[in-house]
Formats: sequence, C-alpha cells, structure tokens
Amino acid sequence: KLADRIDFYGSNARNRKAPLPDDAHLKTAATYNEHRDVSQHINLRRHEQSLLGERIRTLAKDPEKKQAALKEAKALKAEISRLEELLTETEERLFALASAFPNDTHPDVQIGPESAAATLSTHGPPPITASTQRDHVAICRALDILDLESAALVTGSSWYYLKNEGALLELALVNYALSIAMKHGYTPVTTPDVVRTDVAHRCGFQPRDPADGAASQMYHIAHTADPAEMPNHHHAKLVLAGTAEIPLAGMFANKILSATELPRKVVGLGHAFRAEAGARGADTRGLYRVHQFTKLELFVVTDQESSEEMMEEMRKLQTEIFEGLRLSFRVLDMPTEELGASAYRKYDAEAWMPGRGSWGEISSTSNCTDYQARRLHIRYRRPTPKPTESAPSAEQSQTGVPFAHTLNGTAAAVPRLIVALVENGAVFDESGTVVGLQLPSALKPFWVGGNPRGLI
Ligand code: AMP
Repeated sequence: KLADRIDFYGSNARNRKAPLPDDAHLKTAATYNEHRDVSQHINLRRHEQSLLGERIRTLAKDPEKKQAALKEAKALKAEISRLEELLTETEERLFALASAFPNDTHPDVQIGPESAAATLSTHGPPPITASTQRDHVAICRALDILDLESAALVTGSSWYYLKNEGALLELALVNYALSIAMKHGYTPVTTPDVVRTDVAHRCGFQPRDPADGAASQMYHIAHTADPAEMPNHHHAKLVLAGTAEIPLAGMFANKILSATELPRKVVGLGHAFRAEAGARGADTRGLYRVHQFTKLELFVVTDQESSEEMMEEMRKLQTEIFEGLRLSFRVLDMPTEELGASAYRKYDAEAWMPGRGSWGEISSTSNCTDYQARRLHIRYRRPTPKPTESAPSAEQSQTGVPFAHTLNGTAAAVPRLIVALVENGAVFDESGTVVGLQLPSALKPFWVGGNPRGLI
C-alpha cells in the first residue's frame, strides 16, 4: 500500500512537471523508512534503559554486578544520544525531501500544458475586433496617464509611473474590488510587502537564494531580520513578497482556530514584486508584465470539508468584480503543468485585450487544501463530539485538531485590469486620434478628483 502511495506521489509530481529529480519519490520513501527504523531502534533502546534502571535498583547488595550494570547503562545512554542525533538529522533530510513535493491534484484537473485548460464559463460583452490601434501603451501615452520613460531612468525597464487619471484609476479599482469583497464578508487588511524566505517557502514558493546561482523569481533583500528573533540565520533572510498571499497566510501561522469561526475570509492590499527572470517579448511591453504592481488578494482559511465549495464562492465573487467592469472574460480550469506547488486546483480568469490581440490572465484562484496549513501549522478545533458512553479513541482526539484548508485568489491585479479597460474602452475621433476613455460606471463611486480634463 505504501508502495502505491509512493508511485502516486511520483506520477503526480511528473504530471505537474514539478521541479524534482525523477527518483525524488524513491529517495523520500527510503528516507522515510530510515527515519522509522531509527525511531524504532531508539524506542527499543529506551525500553532496555528503563529495564536496566529497574535492575540496578535491585542490585544494591551486589556492588560488582551493580558496577557492571552501571557501565552498561552508560554505554546505552551514549548510544541513545547518538541515535537521537541521527534521528534529528534524518528528520531534517526527510522534511527537505518531502516539502519539495507539490500538493495532490483534484481528479477533474486535466493533465498537460496550458493548452489543455478547460473553459468553465465566458462572461461579459462579446470580444471586440483586435487592432494595433488599441495598444494600451500608445493609448496611455496619448492620454498622459502612464510614464515608462522616467521609470526606466529611475528604476529600470518594466517599472512605471501611473499619473493623472491613471493614478486615480488604480485607487478606484482597488476600492471598487474591496467594497465587493467586504460585502461578501471579507475583512480588509493591509500587509507587509517584505517577508521571511522561510514563510514564502512554506507557502509553496521557492525563493532560491541568488547565491545558489539559480535565477530567483523573488527580490532578495540584503538586510536580514533580527537574528535574535529567529536564531537560524538562513530563516532570517528577507524577500519582497511576490503576492500578499504570503503575508496573509503567515497571519494564521501556528494558530488553532475554532471551527465556529471558519471560514476566515480576509482581503489583503499589498504590492506584488516579481523579478520575472527570463520574461521577454510582447508581454514585457507596457503594463502587462511588470516588476511591481498593486494587488488586492482574497485569502480564506476553512475546514477540510468546505474548501471546494469555497473555491466556487470565490469564483462567483471574482465574476461579480469583472462583470461590474464590463470586461469580456472567461474562466479556465488550469491543467496540471500550470499548477503552482501549493495548488490542488487553480482557476484563472482571462480578459480580452484587443490591442494585444489576445486573452490575458487577470486573476488566479487556488485551492491549496492543507499544503500551506501543514507547513505553517494552521489548525482548527472540531466541536467536541456529543458525550457518548465510551471515551474518544486516540484517532478521534487526533482528528479533533486537523489542518485547515487555505485558498487564495486575485480580487484586482491593477495593471492587467488597466490594460483591459484601456484597450477596450479607448475612444477615438474620426481621424483615429485617442480622445478619451470610457470607463465602467461601477467605478464612479470610487473615483476621486472628478473629471477636469473631460477624458473619462
Ligand atoms: P499569480 O499570483 O502569478 O497567479 O498572479 C496573480 C495575478 O497577478 C495574475 O492573474 C495577473 O493578473 C497578475 N500578474 C501576475 N504577474 C504579473 C506581472 N508581472 N505584472 C503584472 N501583473 C501580473
């Protein structure tokens, strides 16, 4: 049976093209057996030790035998402490191997690359004709709402300033999406944009240290957290958060929640920082793939029975946000090769971007089941069962504080929404000159500063 499970983990990792050596599952299984053997060995020796202790107590009148037994006890103690060191070392190796495995996969998820995605639904008005005239960079320039040139000087390429109505649009989008999330019971949170590499890792991100030579998708900060707070120096390293999901998940670390307070729903506002190592081409033009963006993120902690239902609820909420923006979009059930390490299942929403002439991802929702909760120790207490005649079995009391399930999803990733709104909403005169931008009326209550230039 164990062999079946080992094979299952191997093939699951292969289906997801997880960055693991081919024999990782065999190595992990071997280390698991090693750990079990050492652990059994220690238990045997400890049992011997206690028997020997009892014997020594009976040997008070026989100093010679007592001396020999004490010598034996000393050797036994030394062996146990050697075995304990071995156990710790094996445990660390097992943890490193096992934590590199991706989550299980929902049985309905297609096996394969991005092209195997299944369309779950389409929404909004039909897509308008693609045209290079609708390129968001040109439109934003004409309206003077984006400055890439100054950002290139100040920081580098793929950094940007939003200005005038562009800056106001960011604020309106955030508050609009926030109001919908709050209406559905999400508690607003602003998050730290800097997190420990260890926390990012426990959420399923691989914040490889640039010193390892591998290209990192995260920005590493030379400054470290106070080592006194976290004695293991490696864990004190800091990165810029790639998503508020990391600080939001971390907020629940080491907590035992009461089942009655679940689901816990929070909506976090943060900046996402992406090194985007290796990204090239059309995607890196303008606002589509940038190094920093404002993102409003939904995060839910729930019990093991309701995470799938919660994922559908999140999809509905996102649909409400994007339909309110009058976007033409579709929701996809992403196939195995597109799943991050933590995701059991992932839904992406893609909006039609006529200037780019393609659908572009505007949101992503993952059910991480207990992947993050196991690594961050997020549990909940099931209500105590009704008193019965017999005491709860060991198994029952163990299942009394199971690991929670966590989910995350984008409520608003600002630059991609701006691309979609600008490319679909630009207004041209007869000569083809951009004269304004038609924005959805749903943003009106969240717009500060009026419309003095008459562009909106
Ligand atoms: P992810 O956490 O990678 O699933 O990203 C969440 C959402 O953020 C995506 O659905 C995109 O809308 C947006 N996004 C991701 N990467 C970038 C980027 N480099 N620049 C702009 N938006 C991004």
